[in-house]
Amino acid sequence: MRQIMVAANWKMNGLSADAVHLTRAILDAGLDPTHPEVVIFPPYTLLHVVAQEAKASALRWGGQNLFWEPSGAFTGEISGAMLRDLGCRYVLVGHSERRQIFAETDADVARKLSAAQAAGLIPIVCVGESEGERLAGETEAVLQRQITHILPYVGTGAQPNLVIAYEPIWAIGTGQTASPEQAQEVHAFIRGLVAGQSEALAKRLMILYGGSVKGNNAASLFAKADIDGGLIGGASLQAGEFLQICRAAE
Ligand code: 13P
Repeated sequence: MRQIMVAANWKMNGLSADAVHLTRAILDAGLDPTHPEVVIFPPYTLLHVVAQEAKASALRWGGQNLFWEPSGAFTGEISGAMLRDLGCRYVLVGHSERRQIFAETDADVARKLSAAQAAGLIPIVCVGESEGERLAGETEAVLQRQITHILPYVGTGAQPNLVIAYEPIWAIGTGQTASPEQAQEVHAFIRGLVAGQSEALAKRLMILYGGSVKGNNAASLFAKADIDGGLIGGASLQAGEFLQICRAAE
């Protein structure tokens, strides 16, 4: 009953030629156009390139971040309306790199969720514990705190108004993927927290896994009951590797 998604987070990588090459590789691969839904998150500077290449296809794209104000004197920031204007359907919110390097708080994440939804975007909100927190046995407490700030934005209608991505910080860019069992345990915990608010929305909520997903480990992650796809960093910059992950989700 849930859609499956494979999302490419290019982070701060790529120039125009790379965007054309990677986007065309995905478009030309003959993937099932609806299963999984494939979404590219390029840097802002490449959104128009991806949009130009992908506009007549089932491929979607989105922003890696947004600011919560709709417009004004906020040098260097980008609003939800600006992302919509470029045809974005999704936006990443609260990636751990934003939380850690740019000091975004749970309250900031909540404001961005609200702004994204007000602009007509579907936020993919990232949560996850650090290595120290996991070793200290605090994984569930950290996730509970992060999810509590997200719950007001899950929605009240038939479909959730956001997607959650579980990205354990210790697995990002380290090659140390969470095992399918470790990831499933946390995904089920997150779904349980949302079910406390709405069973129906929890059942429909997509929860992606991110953190060192590669072509050779994607299938075993996606096979788990509560893992509805992946948010891919490093491997999304290599067309062959990324396509292998997409095929693992078909
Ligand atoms: P890696 O796939 O490079 O570990 O990055 C995951 C990530 O942060 C995606 O948002």
